[in-house]
Amino acid sequence: MKTKFTRRDFLKTAAIGTASALALSCGLIPPTQEEDMTDPLSTHADVLVLGAGIAGLAAARTLTDKGLSVIVLEARNRVGGRTWTDSSLGVPLDLGASWIHGVNGNPITKLAKEFGAKTAPTDGENAIEFAADGSELPGGAWEETETLFEDIYEEVAEIQERTDEDMSLQAAFDQVIAGRRLSGEDLRRLNYYIHLVTALEYGADAKDLSLWWWDQDEEFGGEEVIFPGGYNQITDGLAKSLDIRLGEVVNIVRYGADGVEVETSQGNYAAAQAVVTLPLGVLKQASVKFEPPLPESKQAAINRLGMGVLNKVYLKFPEVFWDAEVETFSYLGEELGEWGDWLSFVPFTGEPVLMAFHGGEKGFALEELSDDNIVAGAMQTLRVMFGGGIPEPEGVLITRWGKDPFALGAYSHTPPFASGEDRGALAQPLGNVLFFAGEATSREYPGTVHGAYLSGVRAAEEL
Ligand SMILES: Cc1cc2nc3c(=O)[nH]c(=O)nc-3n(C[C@H](O)[C@H](O)[C@H](O)COP(=O)(O)OP(=O)(O)OC[C@H]3O[C@@H](n4cnc5c(N)ncnc54)[C@H](O)[C@@H]3O)c2cc1C
Repeated sequence: MKTKFTRRDFLKTAAIGTASALALSCGLIPPTQEEDMTDPLSTHADVLVLGAGIAGLAAARTLTDKGLSVIVLEARNRVGGRTWTDSSLGVPLDLGASWIHGVNGNPITKLAKEFGAKTAPTDGENAIEFAADGSELPGGAWEETETLFEDIYEEVAEIQERTDEDMSLQAAFDQVIAGRRLSGEDLRRLNYYIHLVTALEYGADAKDLSLWWWDQDEEFGGEEVIFPGGYNQITDGLAKSLDIRLGEVVNIVRYGADGVEVETSQGNYAAAQAVVTLPLGVLKQASVKFEPPLPESKQAAINRLGMGVLNKVYLKFPEVFWDAEVETFSYLGEELGEWGDWLSFVPFTGEPVLMAFHGGEKGFALEELSDDNIVAGAMQTLRVMFGGGIPEPEGVLITRWGKDPFALGAYSHTPPFASGEDRGALAQPLGNVLFFAGEATSREYPGTVHGAYLSGVRAAEEL
């Protein structure tokens, strides 16, 4: 039996002790010879990584490869964070991220190859659009909607260029639309399109996005692909042979010139340095206490950046009652953003599964409904599109990312008056002790798996 309890007790004392006791504990007396860093009971490492999402796993793996001892502390009883594959309906379905957005040069493509995870390209053009009454839009109507959007967006982009003060993206759209004579139907289709490229992509409505910075993110080129076997093949692959402690809810992070001490729901951990990958939603809620408090510049960035939501509803049916060749079904119903965007899994897995997205305010509103209400709403729309005789689902999965205490949203966005500078401030290390990663710290690729991954590697290299 090694002397782990001695160190654990020492750290507990330091946690409730004075600043000097803390300095002592953070002085990180080097591990004694008896203290084997790979021991699962060790509470002491070179580096602590807070969070076992893709950013934390990327940081931990990079640091471990460099020969450092690393403990990853994760609140949930699983790794992956906002990548989460659920197989309870008998088929792997992603409740968080689904896509590698642009495979060319994307680090996730490389990982998929390394872990032998099969991918399948999706084709957004392989779609049918339905009008509110369930009839298919006449040929060419969708292309006209795209052209109308592009035409209007050209003027929005001019306002973006010339305005001296930021405003919401919606305010700019409103200005342009006010100068046009659009029919009611044109306006409905235009609003649907705006919703598609904002709420369903950024998790925030146009009124909550900065005109200047809403689309400041960069993209990898190439196909958009999903993982028929689930995204967790990537996070599970990265997690292999790392020292990850599950069920460890971080409550307090104490840091100083000498190191860092982390108090969790299970005990205390100490290290010379730490990588914080807590989601922006968690940082906003301040459920994790930093001692001393985070500096004003970082706190202001946390306050300014936004955490939006994208929720998914999966329905598994006894059989396929829709066109099995088609990937996307769009419904331009009376209520913008409700049951408007559907993906069929038949082309990718052969399974009779449909999934609907709700984003932005409609995504948050969905979370307030009971499961029964949600399924009733889904079925009502499906009956309009596919007829009254369709079967009831035999299995359902519903996400509520906004209420998930360890995410508190789906991903970050840039509201009016926030900017990429805020992401830079969020990423800024504190001394040589606390380093920050996670999708919200990525200026180039926020809100994505690859952005989170690259931020973890970046933080590990800074360290
Ligand atoms: C519905 C949805 C769809 C998406 N679709 C895509 C997509 O198709 N493609 C794409 O590229 N991206 C997509 N994303 C975004 C992508 O999933 C995220 O950007 C990325 O997974 C974030 O990784 P992360 O490591 O920064 O954060 P997380 O994965 O959230 O990791 C942070 C970890 O910290 C843990 N944690 C939180 N609080 C505590 C605490 N107090 N103590 C200890 N641990 C804590 C969390 O449990 C979590 O495991 C989607 C996200 C959602 C929600």
